[in-house]
Formats: sequence, C-alpha cells, structure tokens
Amino acid sequence: MSLQQFQMCIGGEWTNAISGNTFDSLNPATGEAWAQFPDASAEDVNRAVEAADTAFRSAEWRSLTPTARGKLLRKLGDLIAANTETLAQLESTDNGKLIRETRGQVSYLPEFFYYTAGLADKIEGETLPLDKQDMLAYTIREPLGVVAAIIPWNSPLYLTAIKVAPALAAGNTIVLKPSEHASATLIELVKLAEQAGIPKGVINVVTGYGPSTGAALTSHPKVRKIAFTGGAATARHVIRSSAENFAKLSLELGGKSPQIVFPDADLDSAVNGIVAGIFAASGQSCVAGSRLLVHKDVYEQVINALVERASRIKIGNPQADESEMGPMATAQQLAVVESFVERAQAEGARLRLGGKRPDVDQGWYYEPTIFECSSNADYLMQEEVFGPVAAVIPFETEEEALAMANDSQYGLAAGIWTRDIARAHRVARDVHSGIIWVNTYRVVSAMGSIGGFKSSGYGRESGIDSVLEYTERKTVWINLSSEPMADPFVMR
Ligand code: NAP
Repeated sequence: MSLQQFQMCIGGEWTNAISGNTFDSLNPATGEAWAQFPDASAEDVNRAVEAADTAFRSAEWRSLTPTARGKLLRKLGDLIAANTETLAQLESTDNGKLIRETRGQVSYLPEFFYYTAGLADKIEGETLPLDKQDMLAYTIREPLGVVAAIIPWNSPLYLTAIKVAPALAAGNTIVLKPSEHASATLIELVKLAEQAGIPKGVINVVTGYGPSTGAALTSHPKVRKIAFTGGAATARHVIRSSAENFAKLSLELGGKSPQIVFPDADLDSAVNGIVAGIFAASGQSCVAGSRLLVHKDVYEQVINALVERASRIKIGNPQADESEMGPMATAQQLAVVESFVERAQAEGARLRLGGKRPDVDQGWYYEPTIFECSSNADYLMQEEVFGPVAAVIPFETEEEALAMANDSQYGLAAGIWTRDIARAHRVARDVHSGIIWVNTYRVVSAMGSIGGFKSSGYGRESGIDSVLEYTERKTVWINLSSEPMADPFVMR
C-alpha cells in the first residue's frame, strides 16, 4: 500500500526536506506505516525560522491591527469547525486516539480561537502612577518575535491551538514542530490557516525527530519564545537549548495527579471520574489521575467498583464508535507501560486488574491496569507512566491524604471527591497543583488556564492571561519638564 505523503510549510511554500530524507508514521492500531513526512535538518529549520522572522518584520503582518488579527483567528476557528470530521479521523489514525475523543477535542477547538481572537485587541498597557511629577511613564505590551512550538503526540491539535491562538493574537509568528509520531493534523491546520488568509510565513511547520529537528529549532538564535509541551527529560534539553538564545520559556510537563476520594463522596460518580482520569485516552494524558487516594472506610467498595467497571472497558479499534480504549500511541510507550508493570510487581504492589496486553492480533494495546500500593514512596506512586495504570492507596485522615497528595515531584492536576463543601474548598486550597477538579475530572475550557507547579512546569496556557505569555513589556518615559537636564552623573 502506498503511503500518504505530507510536506512541510516554510514561508508559505510547501516543501520537502533539502536532503530529501523522510520518515514514516505508524498507525498505532495496526503497527503499520501509513504516511511519510520530510525529515527536517538544521538547514530546513533555519529556513523556517528565517521565514517566520521575515514575516514578523513584514509590513503585511505588522500593519494588521490587533482587531484584524482577531478576525483572522476567528476565520481559522470557522474553518476548523467546517473540517472537524477530517481532522478528527486524521488524528485518530496518526496517534491511535479514540475517534469519539478526537471528535470531541476537535469540535471544541474553534472555541479556543474565538475566545483568544477576542483577547487580541485587549492587550493593554498601563500608565504608571509615578513618584516623579515631571515625568510621564507608560507601558506597552509588544509581541516577542518568532515562537517555537514543540508539540507532543498525545493531543497534537489541542496543544497546538492553545499555543498558536495566543501567539498570533499577540502579533508573533510561529514555527511548529510536531512529534514525529503525530505530525499530520498540524500540517492540515497550517493549510487551514493559509485558507483563512493568515499571511505567508506567519505559521510554519517543520517535521522531524526531537533531538535533531526539535533541538535545532529550540536553540536557533532568532527564536524568542519556546512553548513546549512534553516530558520532563525533554524539557531539560529545551531549557539547555534556551541557554543559547535566551528565549522565554513555557513548559507544560507531566504529572502524577492524585484523585482523593473521601467517605462522604458520591461513589458512583467518583468511580466514573476515576475511570475518566486514568483510562480515557489509554492514560496518555498529562492530567491523568493516576494516583488514587481512597479513604479506608470506602476503600474496598471503591476498588471493587473500579475493578468491575474497568474490566468492562471495550478495548478496540480507535476508529470504531463503540471502542472505549484504543492502543498506546507508540511501540516505545507500550514498552514503557510494560516495564512499569513489571517493576510494580517486583516491588510487591498487588495487581487487581490487567497487567498485560489484550489478546489481539495487531496494534499496541494494553489492558486497563489497577495496582494496590502500600506506600506513597513506591515507584508507581511517584513516577508518571503515561499509560492506563492506576495506583491505589488507602488513607485515614484528611491531613494524611493531603500529605500524600503533595508528596510528589509533580503538581499538574488533582481530583477531590466529597459532598462536604468546607472540605472541598480546604483541600482545593492546600493541594499544590495548577488545576483542581471537585466532583469532576478532565474538564477544559478556553477560559480556564492549564499549567503546573513543581516538575509539572511553568507558564500557563489557555485562559485570559495566555496572550500575555507571548508579549514583552516595554516602559516608555516622557520628560514633561522644560528645564535643562540636571547633573548627568546622578541617576534620576
Ligand atoms: P517528549 O518525548 O518530551 O516529546 C515532546 C516533544 O518534544 C515532541 O515533539 C518531541 O519530538 C520533542 N523533542 C524531543 N527531544 C527534543 C529535543 N532534544 N529538543 C526539542 N524537542 C524535542 O514527550 P512525549 O512523550 O511526546 O509526550 C508525553 C509527555 O508530555 C508526558 O510527560 C506528558 O505528561 C506531557 N504532556 C503534558 C501536557 C500538559 O499540558 N502539561 C499535555 C500533554 C502531554 P519527537 O516526538 O519527534 O521526539
């Protein structure tokens, strides 16, 4: 079968790599190659950054008012809405996510563009209430220049939308580097941006491998901001790259998010929320609620209900409407999950469900897996699996639950299940995480910000402040006095 061919977009031109090199993308449901992409070298990356820099300085882009930029983003949102099914099918083929999940994500995507479009002409400066009467000072928020956006494979379109929309709203230009495992939909997004009338060179996309294409992009001297989503180990490389160009950084990294179930919770709801948190997207979600802290009084009841519900999860072809769990996105990720399970068993964690591949002929599937752990220090309680593996532990008091929730290098999200309103607010206040869900899990909105504490990264995406992350503040001083300048050797 011939592979579908994709090209990169550099300065508005659709192009192969200068070397002519390509790589194949594999369909996780079959393990077979389905598409081919250019393998961009440092030379290709340089072309893309130069094109983005030229576009940033161009009269065409700079003469657009913020309101006009907002209109372009709205148009892009409309085009995404008109192409939902195509984009959803493509993403599901490329990264193996359930079609019902990719449809859901893509249908909400336009909202990020509409919301952020409205922010484009609300990026305001301030007048400073100075302590010097003969001076007027005000601030201006200016775009940074070329933004490098590094995107992982788990939710490529969504994670790109929350970078592209604010970057462009603020007047920057951008070079996208998708994961080598899921490049297709970002390329389609750039085609839609072209149709929306976004000028050539404002959005570019280079495809290739992380350590070559990604590193060339993040260390490029003309990159002014790196918006990165991915794992902590890669983030360390990106931070080192930014030592070359002093680019501003936002890092959205992983998590080991706790779901805390108190004895007064609606347990049916909690079990559903736990399933959503760890088995949706086969656990390949940055906010996966992978650590379950359950009060001892309801521990057996919750774990039995969870095992029962999870054992009924329909594993299958991600493009079939009835499937509830698809494959892991890559063979490497499947191997990572298997090594975690092996280590958990070797360390004495009690396997309650799964712990193996299902009996299927092809594809990188793994069963929903539940382990009972005896200590929050266990490897499985501390390290991110990024797969369908839940680690459960009992607690006795609220203080103990909080201590365990916060005893983690990560701080991305947390779920709190209780009907006690005072406890809900107390625990929400005291858990060290960027996102807290009470009696629900995995809810997103264009108005809500995403980002973590500690090793889950820094910077915030989505929400009202997202555009400010793509600006630089400038302070302008105006001398109002008609007196000659005083002593030049003394700071005023
Ligand atoms: P990853 O291996 O860190 O890769 C992320 C991106 O970085 C990919 O595009 C990758 O390209 C690229 N990359 C790899 N090495 C690079 C280098 N030296 N310089 C520049 N770029 C480089 O992460 P992943 O396995 O794809 O994604 C899973 C991780 O992302 C998990 O930890 C998850 O929790 C996190 N995540 C966080 C959020 C959030 O919002 N906080 C959302 C989703 C995922 P290649 O893939 O081509 O190597």
